[in-house]
Amino acid sequence: MSWHQKTLAQLSKLLINKEISSLELSNFFLERMALAKNLNAYLDVRPELTQAQAKEADRLRSSGKAGPLTGIPIAHKDVFVTKGWTTTAASKILEGYISPFDAAVVESLGMPSEQTPQSAGMVCLGKTNMDEFAMGSSNENSAYGPALNPWNLKRVSGGSSGGSAVAVAAGLAPIATGTDTGGSIRQPAAFCGLSGIKPSYGRVSRYGMIAYASSLDQAGPIGKSAEDCAMLLSAMSFHDPRDSTSLIDSGEDYTRYLNSSWSDQDQSKPLTGLRVGLPKEFYADGLSHDVAQAVLSAKEALHALGASVCEVSLPKTKLSIPVYYVLAPAEASSNLSRYDGVRYGHRAKEYSDLVEMYQRSRSEGFGAEVKRRILVGSYVLSHGYYDAYYLQAQKIRRIIAADFQTAFSQCDVILGPVAPDVAWGLGEKSQDPLQMYLEDIYTLSTNLAGLPAMSVPCGFSKDGMPIGMQLIGNYFSEARLLQIAHQYQRTSDWHLRSPNEVAT
Ligand code: GLN
Repeated sequence: MSWHQKTLAQLSKLLINKEISSLELSNFFLERMALAKNLNAYLDVRPELTQAQAKEADRLRSSGKAGPLTGIPIAHKDVFVTKGWTTTAASKILEGYISPFDAAVVESLGMPSEQTPQSAGMVCLGKTNMDEFAMGSSNENSAYGPALNPWNLKRVSGGSSGGSAVAVAAGLAPIATGTDTGGSIRQPAAFCGLSGIKPSYGRVSRYGMIAYASSLDQAGPIGKSAEDCAMLLSAMSFHDPRDSTSLIDSGEDYTRYLNSSWSDQDQSKPLTGLRVGLPKEFYADGLSHDVAQAVLSAKEALHALGASVCEVSLPKTKLSIPVYYVLAPAEASSNLSRYDGVRYGHRAKEYSDLVEMYQRSRSEGFGAEVKRRILVGSYVLSHGYYDAYYLQAQKIRRIIAADFQTAFSQCDVILGPVAPDVAWGLGEKSQDPLQMYLEDIYTLSTNLAGLPAMSVPCGFSKDGMPIGMQLIGNYFSEARLLQIAHQYQRTSDWHLRSPNEVAT
């Protein structure tokens, strides 16, 4: 087994036993990245910075200061600001921008310093491609072209964290960070055959994470397995006073239940006592046959592990699309007002006065989807339409969150698909924004409610594309979701398959 196929635990062991150095491991990934440039997974790669961090990690190890993740390489979504590497959020408006500081996520996973002695010591491989400002479901809204799905280079990788998913699926990084505002960790993970978890809102600090819709944005890992995700999440979630929505008790060891049974009933079946709820609204029109079959087989597998299954209802599922596509653009229109040609990034070359400078800088810098959302957002917040759209959407958001609580009175975890279908062809939906928005039907409501949810590989379509199932838990049940996923992965091998179409 080659290094790019190994799990975090396996790499950690190799480093601890001094069978490899972090520098060797990092160079191995840098070489693979150089050979697989056609996938467009990375937007910025700086080998000399990566190698300097790897050497630092090796120094920490030889002086006995290494933790379990020290020296393991990682890729960061280009939405997290980084010292050294550019941060563009895949937008022309931030082209060439280099932040003077690291985002909390980058800092907590990166090299320890005097101010951050707890940092994990992972080595940054570079910044991954994404939809511009995390707006999209296919990675085609990137100003730098889409990251290609390594399972089929003519298909989309999913969005918005497509580059992170491609990097992990193609063996160009052992693990990566992503962000999820309405599905952007789970859907690209599903499309590329990976595991990914969006934690409860507030688990991971948003400090230094470029804001899209602040009340929905949440960071999390995209990796090869639930165990890898649990290890990374444990290192990235902690209380951060610099983010006012960061939870006081967010630090946890998310690996703690992985190898234990759900309850102390019948030990022969690890998930005995677990109640799995199937929302009837998820298994209705619009769900493709292949995805439905794969998710229902996963349900059987969970049952065989001891879980009981019941039907639940999330009656407002359909409304999650209009509600999200009012609220997220409203927040985005406010968050993106800071890109004005004065403080960050692009400024138009020619203008006659200040207003024209704003207008030209923003028209030249933002892509079509971002402009569309700023327009929608400004409209729904404007006097006269606020009550009809924004306020109404906020009220339904509350009902959607309440519906989940009703469901969780009947079950411990909700099982459904991540997306209605597998990854579609490049260009197939990019001209039709509404068609693209409909792809988010199963993922948006958890962000509206602030709940944790994860994507777990559970099969393949007839045409060979990966399928993901979604596990949704109640607030702060991440360790339990990861436990269920890990128990499932102990008896299935969907997550172990890797695409053939990768260089080297
Ligand atoms: N696809 C959704 C959107 O376009 C969600 C994106 C995300 O989670 N960042 O907004």
